[in-house]
Amino acid sequence: MKKKINARMVLVAVLGILATMALLTAVFYGVFRRQTMADLRIYALLLQEESQEELMLTGSNMREEKVRITMLDAQGGVLYDNQTDSADMENHSLRPEIRSAMEDGEGQAIRRSATLDKSTFYYAVRLSDGRLLRVATEAESIYSILGSIMPSLVWIGAVLLLLSLLLAHRLTDSLLEPVKKLADHLDDGEEITYYEELEPFVQTIRKQHWDIVENARLRQEFTANVTHELKTPLTAISGYAELIETGMASGEDVIRFAGGIHQSAQRLLHLINDIIRLSELDSSREESMTERVNLYELAAVCVEMLEVSAQKHKVSLRMEGGSCYVQGNRLMLEELLFNLCDNAIRYNVEGGLVRVDVHREREQVILTVQDTGIGIPQEHQERIFERFYRVDKSRSKSTGGTGLGLAIVKHIVARHQAQLKLESSPGKGTAIRVVFMAAI
Ligand code: ATP
Ligand code: MG
Repeated sequence: MKKKINARMVLVAVLGILATMALLTAVFYGVFRRQTMADLRIYALLLQEESQEELMLTGSNMREEKVRITMLDAQGGVLYDNQTDSADMENHSLRPEIRSAMEDGEGQAIRRSATLDKSTFYYAVRLSDGRLLRVATEAESIYSILGSIMPSLVWIGAVLLLLSLLLAHRLTDSLLEPVKKLADHLDDGEEITYYEELEPFVQTIRKQHWDIVENARLRQEFTANVTHELKTPLTAISGYAELIETGMASGEDVIRFAGGIHQSAQRLLHLINDIIRLSELDSSREESMTERVNLYELAAVCVEMLEVSAQKHKVSLRMEGGSCYVQGNRLMLEELLFNLCDNAIRYNVEGGLVRVDVHREREQVILTVQDTGIGIPQEHQERIFERFYRVDKSRSKSTGGTGLGLAIVKHIVARHQAQLKLESSPGKGTAIRVVFMAAI
């Protein structure tokens, strides 16, 4: 970019210099021409006062000065010329300066000589007796003037070019300075003055930059959490196995320890499944979201599947609503329903109730999973959708939770362009609402 700006500036400077020089030469030549003609006119006016004898004397004096004096009769016949023998000269009545002088009293003309580098300036006046007096002089033409000043022009041009190169370089630097500064200080939030035209660009870059930083932080946190979560059950498994291995456990203990190993292994599997699911949701953008799914039917199947678990927790399940269609991915929606219902059962109380409702409201399909369970304290409500976040670590662990369920739910909701709403009060229960656009 710097090179480009620089090159353009130099180009503009060069064009400017050339144009200025050409224009100046033209203007200069115009002035020169006018001045020469004005001088000739004064000559002519002075000479017209002289008598024939005086004129011839002046004429012979002027011969060396390259001023040509010609006297003509009223018809354009040459009477006298100080440069050539008048007898050899043809009638001049057709020459433009003579014609004008015959008609209007004075006339002028410029004719280029055959050699090109000279022009002859003519000025003619009509005398009171009808005769015509013409004065002429040779002067350099515009081309020869141009030729003679060319070396100076080239020098001046070169100096100007050098100057403009230097200036362009400086200017480019100062133009790009804010941009460079911005690039260096993009992440430290320092206030830098830059061009307001760059504002949208900077905003986008800043946002992307922060997103990248935030993503990296989340990833790192996630990895740390996963490692930590894997460690607990593995430590337990290793401990139990060691006790059995060393023969320190008696017959009955072996069965208990094997149970412990089994539970920890189950927990590991559950955890790994959740992690795989999350990373799948994170990466795969191709999964089809175009299925037309009856959400009510899907919820009913899920409720039926969780009946055993509900009985184990002494919780009753109730299904409400009617057939409603949404567009999306069946497997994902199944998972969403399972996670919400599973939570509603596990974080419930004995004799509690779980109500699953799917109904349509105008253009929206609303899924509600409501329980009469332990509820979620206000200060945790914002965070339970984060990965690995659990309100009560010990209770969740004893029920086998990994803290990934709602993170998956949040992901699936986002992929379906739906909205997630949470209402909960401790001791009373929780209601999670997902609002979908109804499928056509
Ligand atoms: P997983 O779902 O992976 O087995 P989990 O249930 O602990 O583990 P999430 O489903 O993400 O994880 O839930 C996060 C936390 O939110 C839970 O640990 C629990 O503290 C709280 N929570 C979720 N649903 C409810 C609910 N219906 N009632 C009360 N607390 C809840
Ligand atoms: Mg859960």
